[in-house]
Amino acid sequence: MTKLLDNMNAQMNREYESAYIYKGMAIYAAGANFRGATGWMEKQADEEVTHAEKFKEFLLDLGYQPKLTGMEEAKTEYKSLADIFEAALDHEKFISKNIRDLYKQAVEEANYEVQVFLNWFIEEQVEEEASVGEIVDLLEMVGDSKNGLFMLDAQLGRR
Ligand code: MG
Repeated sequence: MTKLLDNMNAQMNREYESAYIYKGMAIYAAGANFRGATGWMEKQADEEVTHAEKFKEFLLDLGYQPKLTGMEEAKTEYKSLADIFEAALDHEKFISKNIRDLYKQAVEEANYEVQVFLNWFIEEQVEEEASVGEIVDLLEMVGDSKNGLFMLDAQLGRR
């Protein structure tokens, strides 16, 4: 049980770190004058904090004292708008894999509370991968077109 909760604590930290990673992408987007993408990344960062807080509250409810571990330096240098969204998609796939690993462990240990808690995250990750994947596809379609990037950035700003 404790090992599973230690792993849940690691996921809480990964969610906080996700926010930090998206903050780095927001800095790149702001520096490159993509105001829409900047806002998109800032909202994503806020959402990641709410994910982390869900883990934190759940752990506290189970009488587990959450630990805030260190974070890696977050990148702020990227090559393009496509580069940050491709990196975001890779990151979300990494997060999905971690959630699935936690679920697998919860099933093996017949921990129903953790399974029920993780259900929301399993669904959420399907949505995250779909929405970021769609943006990656649109960026691929637009390519180097300045008009296309301008319009796509405006669309991202409506999130
Ligand atoms: Mg998340």
